[in-house]
Order: sequence, then C-alpha cells, then structure tokens
Amino acid sequence: MDISNTAHSEGSSAFAKSGEQESKAAAELELRNVSKRYPGQREPAIAELSFTVPAGEVCVLVGPSGSGKTTAMRLINRMISISGGDILLGGHSVLHRDARELRREIGYVIQQIGLFPHQTVGENIATVPQLLGWPKPRIAARVDELLGLIGLDAEEMRDRYPAQLSGGQRQRVGVARALAADPPLMLMDEPFGAIDPINRTRLQDEFLALQQKVRKTVVFVTHDIDEAIKMGDRIAILREGGHLAQYDTPREILIHPADEFVAQFVGADRGIKRLSLTTLGELKLAEPNGLQPGSLRAPPQTSVRDALSMILTANGEPLAVVDGEERVQGLLTLSLIEQLLADEASANGANGNGSPSRLLVDGDGEAAG
Ligand code: ADP
Ligand code: MG
Repeated sequence: MDISNTAHSEGSSAFAKSGEQESKAAAELELRNVSKRYPGQREPAIAELSFTVPAGEVCVLVGPSGSGKTTAMRLINRMISISGGDILLGGHSVLHRDARELRREIGYVIQQIGLFPHQTVGENIATVPQLLGWPKPRIAARVDELLGLIGLDAEEMRDRYPAQLSGGQRQRVGVARALAADPPLMLMDEPFGAIDPINRTRLQDEFLALQQKVRKTVVFVTHDIDEAIKMGDRIAILREGGHLAQYDTPREILIHPADEFVAQFVGADRGIKRLSLTTLGELKLAEPNGLQPGSLRAPPQTSVRDALSMILTANGEPLAVVDGEERVQGLLTLSLIEQLLADEASANGANGNGSPSRLLVDGDGEAAG
C-alpha cells in the first residue's frame, strides 16, 4: 500500500482515523427528522424524514415521481441546503463539513449525464483521486483495477471517450468513477433508468455482485418497485410530500405493507413478488418417492417465482429440483407454494430478514433477499 500521500489525501475526514486511511469501506447513514422546503414552494418536498442505513447495506428509496427521492440524495451530499433536521454519516453530522470535501467521500451515480464527454474513460474514473492528490501511478493502478471490477477490459477501454461506449458501458464507468476513492457511501439516483430492460437486468446483477465485494453503504433511488425488491436490503417507500410510508426489508414490505398506499404501490401481485425472494434450494421440498418427476426440472438457485411460472406453463405438473449431476433433490408442487405463501402471511415477521416459514430449510444459508 502506498502511504506516501496519506497526509493530504483525506483532509479532515471523519473517516481518516489513523491506520484506516485506505479502508473507509462503509459508514452508517442516518437521516434525523430531515425536512426540505424549496424557496417559493408551499408544501415541503421532504417532511420529517428519518431512517438509518446500517454500514454496508443497500437502502432503496422508492416512490412515485415528485415524492422527494432526488431531493433526499441532494441533501445527503449537500448539493442543496437542508431546512430542518440532521444527516449523520459515520456518526458525524454532514452539516458541519466542508461541502466539497464531503462530496469526495460520497460516490454519486446518476442516469445519462454524469460522464465528462471530453475526458477519456480513464480520466473520468480518476476524477476524485486526482482532486485528492493521489500520485499518478496509484491513480493509474486504481483506474485499471476498477475497470476490471466492472468487467471492462482496461487496455481496450481506458483511452476511449464516453461517446465511444454503449449506454450500459457508460453506466458501468459511472459506477467505477463513483467508487474510485473508495467512498464510505454511494448515492445512486435511478442509475439504470435509461437502460433497456435486458441490459438493465444485467447491470443490476453486476452491481449486486460488485456490492458483495465492496460492501458499500448505498442509497439507491428508483421508481420501480421490482428493482427496489431486487436491489434493496431495506426499502424506504416515500409518498408525496416526502413522507416515509414504510421502511423495512423487501420481505416484510411484501408480507405486511404498512397501509393502503404501500399495498397499492407494491402491487396486487405482491404474493408472487414475494416468491422471487426465495430460491428452491431454500425450501423443504416434497420427497420424490412414488411421484415420478416428469420433464420439468430446475436447479436449486431458481427462484420460486420462476419455478411457479414453469409449473403453470406445464399445466401444474410438479417440478424436480436437480443438482449439477441431474440428481433429483426433491419436488416442488403447487400446494407447496400455496403453503409457503400462507405460512409467511400468518407468521408475524417481527424479525425482519428471518425465515418466517417452516417450509424454509434451517441452516447457515443466507436469508433470501
Ligand atoms: P423525485 O426525485 O422523487 O421525483 P424530487 O426530489 O425531484 O422528486 O422533487 C420533489 C418535489 O420537490 C417535487 O414536487 C418537485 O417539483 C419539487 N422540487 C424539486 N426540485 C425543486 C427546485 N429546485 N425548486 C423547487 N421545487 C423543486
Ligand atoms: Mg428524481
């Protein structure tokens, strides 16, 4: 590790405690009674908004257009001034920080614009390290490392200009640029909103894989509830006027929507959506004995939602869950899915991410979602 420049690399950062200059990793974010009223507006854009994102978790801010999602992001990195309340990053109020310095500690990804058109991919990614005065070789190494991390070939990509990239590649570079100085917090405002559905799914999957490695605290904005369910460890649902309707795990929001607004927002198919949070490998399957499995088979990592779709397409035939060697692990039937949904609905899910259904296998597996 190059420590020659640490003296001026982090300024008076709350995170630059001695000995951890390099691994700022992630910091807890807390919003305390945050309000924002724009000049000349009668109603506040955000009213008394409070929630805490634990370090290393993804919080998805979701809500209809105009519910204050972008406003919340801009308050966090102090692009706009707050009207009331406080925002704490790593336990320290951001309100007393030098705003420009704060922004270097917060990765920011927005849709479409974002990349500087007259700078190469490499120069774009190097923006914050350059501001922080990193030595050239360290910056060059970091640029190549990040290009690798987002799945782009460094040799091929670093000297291109944004116009020479596809939309998906540009969004990846935007994520790399935001990660460049290893910020403890990432703000992503509808980052994949302008990408076609296939590439969007790919970018979502890539980001989740990346997050497994970097474990940043992330606030991710979307108006798409399906994206929220997929990306979020927790979801904050906003309604008009920036009021928090519910803050919970995806599973809890789908099982116990706080009110009619949330129920409507997550959709009448929330039972089906819930099935996307559980994989076949997590279920206590029916014994295959007697019942001859038909042609319908799927690996354990398949979601119950996808499996249900397969079963329905096959007129209700049970589905055999098979391992890598095509050995049958058990059967999934329609009645098993019915039981799973009924179980979850009747359990009082006080324990958030826990397994509310006795149909889920115990053990040390990660809880779904
Ligand atoms: P979202 O990102 O959820 O669509 P925004 O945070 O952009 O919502 O906007 C929330 C509310 O604040 C909206 O009513 C919007 O019209 C208003 N608003 C946003 N930016 C400004 C501004 N610069 N001046 C005045 N009102 C604004
Ligand atoms: Mg917005």
